[in-house]
Amino acid sequence: MVVDVITIFPEMFEGPMSVSIIGSARERGLLELRTHDPRDHTCDRHRTTDDYPYGGGPGMVMKPEPLVAAINAARTAGPGSAPVAILTPSGRPFDQQQAHELSGLDRLILVCGRYEGIDERVFAYADMTISIGDYVLTGGELPAMVVIDAVTRLLPGVLGDEASSADESFTDGLLEYPQYTRPAEYEGMSVPDVLLSGHHAAIAAYRRAEAIRKTAQVRPDLLVAANLTDHERRLADEARKETDRD
Ligand code: SAM
Repeated sequence: MVVDVITIFPEMFEGPMSVSIIGSARERGLLELRTHDPRDHTCDRHRTTDDYPYGGGPGMVMKPEPLVAAINAARTAGPGSAPVAILTPSGRPFDQQQAHELSGLDRLILVCGRYEGIDERVFAYADMTISIGDYVLTGGELPAMVVIDAVTRLLPGVLGDEASSADESFTDGLLEYPQYTRPAEYEGMSVPDVLLSGHHAAIAAYRRAEAIRKTAQVRPDLLVAANLTDHERRLADEARKETDRD
C-alpha cells in the first residue's frame, strides 16, 4: 500500500514510522510512506501556508492553494488513483471497521491540518474526513500516524501471526479478553487456572466470557451490535449490574 501524507512537518513521521512493525513493513515494501510539504508549493519568500481567518477570530487558517497543489502532486505521483482523507476533529470517527476498509486500498492520501484548521474549500478535493476522537490536537500528523499504524498492521503479511489481528478488540464487536504471560504468579496475583489447563475448548469459553464481561463493564455501547446468545446476554447484564454496584 502507498500512503501519501500532506504535512508541513514531514520530519514528525521519521521516528514513529521507522520502528517496530511499521518500520519493518516499510523495509519489506508492504507499506510505502511518502510525505509532501505544502511549503514546496508556495510562491512567496516565507513559504506561507496560513493566513488570517475571514470574518475575524483567533489563530490562522491553512490556505487552500499550497494544500491543493500538494494533494494534486501526491495524486499524480501514482500508481493509479488514490482517495483523499482530511484529518479533522469534525470528521467521521475512526474505528477498526474503517481501518479494515482502508487496508483494502492500494493507495491513500492523508491531509494534515495545523493552526485553527483548513480552509473549507479544500474539503471539496477530499473523498472523506477522519477524526481520531472527540478531542482537539495541535495538528493532523499524530492522527495521520494513528490511521497509518492501525491500517498497516491489517495489511497481509505485516503481522507475523495473521491470527493476532483476527482475535483482538473490536473485531467481533467485543473488547479483547485479558492476556497473561509468565510468571504464573506475580506479587500474589495468579494467572487463572483454566489458562494453564491446556484444555482448548475451556480456554476459548473462558476468553469469550471474559471478553463479554469486560465489554459490558467498559463499553456497553458495543454490545448492541455484538452477536450474543441469550446466555451471553444474561452474562453481560450481570457484569453491568456488578459495575453499577461498585
Ligand atoms: N479549529 C479546529 C476545530 O475546532 O475543529 C481544530 C483545529 S486543530 C487545532 C488543527 C488540526 O489538527 C486540524 O486541522 C486537524 O488536521 C488536526 N486534528 C486535531 N484534532 C484532531 C482529531 N481529533 N482528529 C483528527 N485530526 C485532528
